[in-house]
Amino acid sequence: EGSLLSVRDLHVSFKTEDGIVRAVDGLSFDVQRGRTLGIVGESGSGKSVTNLTVLGLHNPMFTTIEGEILLDGKELTTAREAELEKLRGNKVAMIFQDPLTALSPYYTVGRQIAEPYMKHNGASKRVAWDRAVEMLGKVGIPNPKERAKDYPHQFSGGMRQRAMIAMALICDPDLLIADEPTTALDVTVQAQILDLLKDLQQEFGSGIVFITHDLGVIADMADDIMVMYAGRAVERGTTDEVLRSPQHPYTWGLLNSMPRLDSDLGAPLAPIPGAPPSLLNPPSGCPFHPRCTFRDRVGGSRCVTERPLLAPDRASACHLTADQKRTIFVEEIKPR
Ligand code: SF4
Ligand code: MG
Repeated sequence: EGSLLSVRDLHVSFKTEDGIVRAVDGLSFDVQRGRTLGIVGESGSGKSVTNLTVLGLHNPMFTTIEGEILLDGKELTTAREAELEKLRGNKVAMIFQDPLTALSPYYTVGRQIAEPYMKHNGASKRVAWDRAVEMLGKVGIPNPKERAKDYPHQFSGGMRQRAMIAMALICDPDLLIADEPTTALDVTVQAQILDLLKDLQQEFGSGIVFITHDLGVIADMADDIMVMYAGRAVERGTTDEVLRSPQHPYTWGLLNSMPRLDSDLGAPLAPIPGAPPSLLNPPSGCPFHPRCTFRDRVGGSRCVTERPLLAPDRASACHLTADQKRTIFVEEIKPR
């Protein structure tokens, strides 16, 4: 059985007034049924663009796409809008950081959750409404029969997030794309929503792509991790592998900039120096080289001239030797 989602050598670029932005530059990954792939990176790393492309939500006037996106073996990059329309909300659904991008203020929550069910399953209004109420119950909204009649503004932020999840899951999608779905929520509600997603995944068996800048959330949610930088994957592996023995200097930077459970509260975090590069004019060689404090350990000017590639399996796109990666992490990064 093949992958649920298979992305092969994807390139996405935009025409802007200032030139061509290479938002995604040669990206390959797979998502399996029932598993969660966590995509982590700073804003501008291409992680959201990748997923809008999967959903066909880019503006075709200004966007050039090369490569393959196979959903259940079906090629999406060449699919017609009508076909994509059939897939969205049905086979693939998305939840966003801000539920108000998905929920209209003018209709009741119940009606909006019911809508994709009517559209894709040809259900009657009545049947779809009952299913919407059932979904609201599943996502933990108390008294769902009554609350379904509310408008989004009558819901709290956490409840709106739950409603959006109900809408995303009502057609039992094979693939759920969650883009920073808990970033705007307080820590307690965030934990509840993450637990909810895990439970629903058990029940529905969907593959999930979980996009975040927060390695802590990834550690909790994902089976596999892909770290993105400047439109490329720089490291990937199982969550356990990547968190236990990260191999890429950028991943080390992400780890160092997150609070550690085992360190004293208030221990200073070490943010990665510098900013992500402009994708109008990406750096030569390794895109991380302008910010990397380890490039001197690689011989000559290789980091500046030669693009490091990512091998198919557990790998990081970095010119350091496997030995150097291990030693530097164990001796210099981990003890911080
Ligand atoms: Fe740093 Fe060079 Fe590795 Fe890039 S290839 S991450 S610049 S050491
Ligand atoms: Mg379906």
